[in-house]
Amino acid sequence: MRELQQLFENNRTWSEGKREEDSDFFKRHVDGQAPKYLWIGCSDSRIPANEMIGLEAGEVFVHRNVANIFPHTDINCLSVLEYGVENLGIEHVIVCGHYGCGGVAASMENAQFGLVDNWLRNIRDVYFSEKEVLDQIQDKKERYKRLVELNVLTQVMNVCHTTIVQNAWAKGRKLIIHGWVYDISTGLLKDLSCCIASLDQIDDAYRTLKLH
Ligand SMILES: [Zn+2]
Repeated sequence: MRELQQLFENNRTWSEGKREEDSDFFKRHVDGQAPKYLWIGCSDSRIPANEMIGLEAGEVFVHRNVANIFPHTDINCLSVLEYGVENLGIEHVIVCGHYGCGGVAASMENAQFGLVDNWLRNIRDVYFSEKEVLDQIQDKKERYKRLVELNVLTQVMNVCHTTIVQNAWAKGRKLIIHGWVYDISTGLLKDLSCCIASLDQIDDAYRTLKLH
């Protein structure tokens, strides 16, 4: 008997349902994709990226990793961003963290969890650079939630500091980078009111082009 039989049955039901709703649904996908949104989120299984924002297959280009980190030297992250911006015409990049993130929690402990510790070092760096603010928050849960948010804001800026984003702006392209947090206890998104759309919103030290 085939393993995971139930998943194949679910798939057949889903495929049939989609074709009943819209007979061209899959035909449209054959010609390519033109999503307006790039989602950079956590690998956590409780975060259904498309579903929670009411978008269908073909509407969101998705990159996920542990704790939604965008390191400036990560070839995987950079390749997704470049392909999305240059080839797909992405207009909005959404970095979405979430409360209850195990990766962020692990980065606050003086303990080892394996190889992932080296990846989570990126969040330890966020903690270190925001230490003054974070250490003033007495409640550990609240401190942790703030670190989830600060991690998102840091990764938003990491996206903005790439030559990929700055070159798109220089060409006059519409490209907005957003920072959001998903609350797994309510299913609701919180906008961190961080909306970066042009080079003048970037610190001079990180500009790879001159401001006109
Ligand atoms: Zn997570």
